Amino acid sequence: MPTYAAPPAEKALANHQLLHQFYGPVPPAPRRSPMRELVSTILSHRTTHADEELAYDRMLAEFGDWAGVEAAPVAALAHAIRTTRWPDTQAPRIQDVLRRIRAETGGAYALDFLADWPTERAMQWLMDMPGIGLKTASLVLLFNFRKPVLPVDAHVHRVAQRVGFLGAKVSVEKAHAALLALLTPALDAEGLFNFHKHNYWHGQQICFFLKPNCPRCPLKGFCNYYTEQFGPATPEALAATPAHWDEAAWGKLPH
Ligand code: SF4
Repeated sequence: MPTYAAPPAEKALANHQLLHQFYGPVPPAPRRSPMRELVSTILSHRTTHADEELAYDRMLAEFGDWAGVEAAPVAALAHAIRTTRWPDTQAPRIQDVLRRIRAETGGAYALDFLADWPTERAMQWLMDMPGIGLKTASLVLLFNFRKPVLPVDAHVHRVAQRVGFLGAKVSVEKAHAALLALLTPALDAEGLFNFHKHNYWHGQQICFFLKPNCPRCPLKGFCNYYTEQFGPATPEALAATPAHWDEAAWGKLPH
């Protein structure tokens, strides 16, 4: 295990290995179809998961399919997705995204063509669409097409900064390239997928924003935040760290 003074690349890989042991390997299966992933992430901005799902389901129930959504009066579409934070902005965005996909494929509402495109071209094409940023484009390409990119959300960002393999002033946007540069010599797309999922869970379940649960954390041996708060981890503290996520005691991890 590295010390807290180890170089960032060494810490990033130790983070990957230890969280892999702690949470276990994540099967590389997309959580939803590429179209659903893309449209749902537009709906999800500043919106709870339950409200995003409600908006998605209402939209398709109301207009039948993607062709119906694209052709719908924009005010009616905004009404159907009213549980989201900005329905009046998101409704025309969704229709614009559908138009661009149909234009690219010659009529189909599908993103399968991205599988054959080089990563950079696919990333740029997605990010040229309204409302699609680096995180959404990376999620679609990594989750659905196994492209070697790394989505960074607030959880991944916080864990990387606290452990100390990402600078304290590096923004979430800039963290995408910075973390990828540390990891890609060693990790392929499947490794990056596991890194993303493990750090997402870690930020959500253990390394909380307000009061991180450091006694439960396998990264304490080289974490900057831990060292600054409590001093270097003692052999007793390391020995008391659970070896694995205890689903029976602490609950099921989200998908
Ligand atoms: S030791 Fe504490 S601060 Fe560091 S990563 Fe673990 S939970 Fe977060």
